[in-house]
Amino acid sequence: MSVRAELWDALPDGTVACRLCAHGCLLRAGARGVCGVRRNAGGTLLSLAGDVVTAVNLDPVEKKPLYHFLPGTATFSVGSAGCNFSCRFCQNSSISCVPASGRVAGTRVRPEDLAALARAENARSLAFTYNEPTVFFELVRATANLCPDMPVILVSNGYMSRDCLHALRGLVRAANIDLKGFRDAFYRKFCGARLQPVLDTLKAVKELGWWLEVTTLVIPGVNDDRQELAELAAFVHDELGADTPWHISAFHGAHLMADHPPTPLPTLQQARDAGRAAGLRFVYMGNVRCAGGGDTVCPSCGSMLVERVGYAVRRHDRAGQCPACGDLLPGVWTA
Ligand code: SF4
Ligand code: SF4
Repeated sequence: MSVRAELWDALPDGTVACRLCAHGCLLRAGARGVCGVRRNAGGTLLSLAGDVVTAVNLDPVEKKPLYHFLPGTATFSVGSAGCNFSCRFCQNSSISCVPASGRVAGTRVRPEDLAALARAENARSLAFTYNEPTVFFELVRATANLCPDMPVILVSNGYMSRDCLHALRGLVRAANIDLKGFRDAFYRKFCGARLQPVLDTLKAVKELGWWLEVTTLVIPGVNDDRQELAELAAFVHDELGADTPWHISAFHGAHLMADHPPTPLPTLQQARDAGRAAGLRFVYMGNVRCAGGGDTVCPSCGSMLVERVGYAVRRHDRAGQCPACGDLLPGVWTA
């Protein structure tokens, strides 16, 4: 299973230069990129994930998580295979990791099939998620092109290249991008990537005008240093804006860190306090039982606007407007 890849250059010696993500892999004949799903086949770059799905679900948009983008609606969610990161704590490693055999798991699909399914489900939006959407760019773009009436969401690690962002600029309406930590050493050791390209993508997405929310998985003893979290929150505030929702999420053992202890509630609360101290107006706690941790409250008057218990959503806003003081909240509240 494969499709001809996009965004690459053929070099005179038969090597292929992939331009899809910040790794910028140079692939000799027969080689695969870091993501494991792009292969140089005789001087042509193939995507082994561009016609494959591993998961297709109708999810609450809150699960992405997006809290200021059509809250309370369902999004048609699609995952493929592979990832350009190798996070030791990946919760979706069964689809993000390509096994040593090189076999890419999944079901073959055409963009037309996905578009028809999304319509049949009456989904309000279309989300590319579960594994990294950058590495199945061809399927993302082709499907999005077939669904001009359906806002497209990316749930991403933020490692796409400028070329990739440019190609998707008019097709995507919203993104949740992980800012997994604020130390390059952490990105290198735990994710097999670098910090700076992620920071650059976050700023570029803001400039593109996509609705942006940011997620940080707080792992005890790994990226929960107070100073690091304060710097991360300051970056979100200073570079992306005080209105950018920041989701801080509790870690539970997974993949190569299955035995690592979970995030204690006080650690998450410290992260939330760091976000508030930095001036962020919307800080949410996820993956943890904490009353009110997912509620949207009017920053002007304190009124409850959106209550969340698990994925159950109760809206009190009027199309994003506070019914008490009339303040209009940032986000996309109606289709
Ligand atoms: S998508 Fe990224 S990791 Fe995969 S081949 Fe291209 S540059 Fe390399
Ligand atoms: S970026 Fe996401 S999907 Fe990819 S390895 Fe990391 S946690 Fe898994």
